[in-house]
Amino acid sequence: MTRIAVIEKDKCHPMECGNYLCIRLCPVNRTGKECIVKGTDKKAFIDAELCTGCGICPKRCPFGAIHIINLPESLDGPPIHRYGANGFHLYNLPIPHFGKVVGLIGRNGIGKSTAMKVLAGVLQPNLGRDQPATYQELLEFFKGKEAQLFFEKLAAGKIKVAYKPQAVEIIPKHNKGTVFELLRRVDEKKKLEEYAKQLHIDAILQHDIQHLSGGELQRVAICATALRKANVYLFDEPTSYLDIKQRLHVSVFIKSLTAPDPATGEQAAVLLIEHDLIILDYLTDLVQIMYGEVAAFGVVSQPKSTKNGINTYLEGYLKEENMQFRDHRIMFHEKTPIHKRSSAVLTSWSQLVKQLGSFSLSAPSGEIARHEVCGIVGENALGKTTFAKILSGVLEQDHGEIQQQVKIAYKPQYLDVENEELVAFFLRDVIAKYEVALIRPLDLKDLFTKKLCELSGGELQRVMIAQCLSQDADLYVLDEPSAYLDVEQRLMVSKAIRDLMTQKGTSCFVIDHDLLFVDYLSDRLSVFLGEPAVKGTFHGPLSMDEGMNLFLKDLGVTFRRDPESHRPRANDIGSQMDQKQKSEGKLYYT
Ligand code: ADP
Ligand code: MG
Repeated sequence: MTRIAVIEKDKCHPMECGNYLCIRLCPVNRTGKECIVKGTDKKAFIDAELCTGCGICPKRCPFGAIHIINLPESLDGPPIHRYGANGFHLYNLPIPHFGKVVGLIGRNGIGKSTAMKVLAGVLQPNLGRDQPATYQELLEFFKGKEAQLFFEKLAAGKIKVAYKPQAVEIIPKHNKGTVFELLRRVDEKKKLEEYAKQLHIDAILQHDIQHLSGGELQRVAICATALRKANVYLFDEPTSYLDIKQRLHVSVFIKSLTAPDPATGEQAAVLLIEHDLIILDYLTDLVQIMYGEVAAFGVVSQPKSTKNGINTYLEGYLKEENMQFRDHRIMFHEKTPIHKRSSAVLTSWSQLVKQLGSFSLSAPSGEIARHEVCGIVGENALGKTTFAKILSGVLEQDHGEIQQQVKIAYKPQYLDVENEELVAFFLRDVIAKYEVALIRPLDLKDLFTKKLCELSGGELQRVMIAQCLSQDADLYVLDEPSAYLDVEQRLMVSKAIRDLMTQKGTSCFVIDHDLLFVDYLSDRLSVFLGEPAVKGTFHGPLSMDEGMNLFLKDLGVTFRRDPESHRPRANDIGSQMDQKQKSEGKLYYT
């Protein structure tokens, strides 16, 4: 059995634990050997060969920085890559299939981006050693494995990769000028105009890159990647910041990249990482699961058909590999839930109208009950934030009545933090009051010793959700809380929100574009319809069925439930099921 030792460097604080507590406790060290030593970087360093796996140091490290892992026996041989001897270890690679879209799914910190960077040629794998491996060594390594053919083609120059990295926010830091100028530089296919139209960015081609919203940057990045004359396209989380309509458009676009080239008949391969299960399901032909231990090691599973792959992921058990990677299965409600809502009204409104420049918002009558969670779906720029501001009195409506102004706590959509504050300090009130309700379920303790500005997208998201929910308010408004969270975290957040609203007797509006998450979390649903940046109308809150029907009608898609996991799945447009549901007017589950 192989043992690895991983130390999360950013969590190792050898002075604050009392001068290398792990070194002082290690029984192997006490026999005079050097199992744990002070590393050259002043952090602890563990020699996995000498480690006996006694379990003392990982248990006693106050910052949870140490992982000592006995790898599953199926993992014979070295990793594809490790970030140093005590760093994260990656085993196996996902394999692009020509003519197909392959999806990679797994928890945050399990190595998805690392695996993709290896395929993209951005990260030179080291096969678990201290220097990068040569091509020859890689070919040798992959002999007889699924990746062999891919690396042979790569070595022979027959593969050209185009890659969209995860973090689109940094594009403006490295690129100046207009969208058009950026895209023209990479337009090897001479399809700039065509692609820009398909991705609905033709209207912003003359805009300065510095002034784009997250959703615009995402689509520009996707467009730039697709314009490369490549035969392997890699997309790391292509739907963050996009609303549902945009997600569907982007899905159709990405899928089209695998169509045969009219001139040569050749088909490209697409590999992507995606946490929105409805989109993953809709967009991919095959799925590969990544499992292991977050921040310590990650393993890529064999490819499976999408339906089977997603259900296996929810199940938490890989049959072929005989690998249980989660201690529980994730289940969805069989029927649209009808949660008991309290009849006490928090506030109500009638015939609200607000004009802001050339944008107008209207909200016919509606009311929100105490301790209910109300999902809000709709395109970007339809006035979701404006509506919340009116309810809280930050903005005054031009017409209409509000029965009762409410105190609102708001978590914005974009989290741009350059704050050097420590998480423990920033969350001090949450720690004092909501240890059980927020700190534990959102898994925040491990972040306490980090600075806000050092957090990853998913970490910052959880911190900001906790900070918002801990405030004293009547109505909580969370704008896109699912962004950057993995599937498990989305469900944990859902549960934490629900429990807290019940406990406090308060209400929550959750604006989100992941329909599976919205479905899981909401008592009722509100729908924003209209024309982005011109006119928005707030409908609701409605029952889940009514709301989804209204929303899906606008999108032109229908949903059914998977009989096994009960998760919602989008029907192929024009399929039998789609036509049947449309003719019966039941767009959301039969
Ligand atoms: P995912 O994309 O699945 O969220 P990543 O591939 O980004 O996961 O990260 C997997 C692990 O590798 C994490 O623990 C991360 O901290 C670590 N890691 C990522 N990049 C580096 C790096 N350049 N040096 C050291 N560790 C890294
Ligand atoms: Mg990633």
